[in-house]
Amino acid sequence: MFCMIEFLSQYQTIIHYSFHFLVPGLLSFVLFKKIWKSAWFVMITTMFVDLDHLFANPIFDPERCSIGFHFLHTPYAVIVYFLLLFIPNKWIKIIGVGLVFHMFTDYVDCLLM
Ligand SMILES: [Zn+2]
Repeated sequence: MFCMIEFLSQYQTIIHYSFHFLVPGLLSFVLFKKIWKSAWFVMITTMFVDLDHLFANPIFDPERCSIGFHFLHTPYAVIVYFLLLFIPNKWIKIIGVGLVFHMFTDYVDCLLM
């Protein structure tokens, strides 16, 4: 029987990095049309949230779900990222969108493991 999760798991790496780098470009174009290139750049820089992996041992484990494991990937951190969406400053909002989408991407990765 066809299983969507199993099917998507084969493309996990492509999906993961497309979501981290290409989809933010699309989001920037849709949400921040006038400044989409700058917004895309800022969203890409939110990848620095993955620096919390440096505190884990091993630093990278393909079998580990980041969400709830690394301190900048905890549910409390995600709540803070979500609240950034409501701050009336477009750059903070862009950072918020980048971080919330980053967490979504990592969560999708956990589902595909
Ligand atoms: Zn991450």
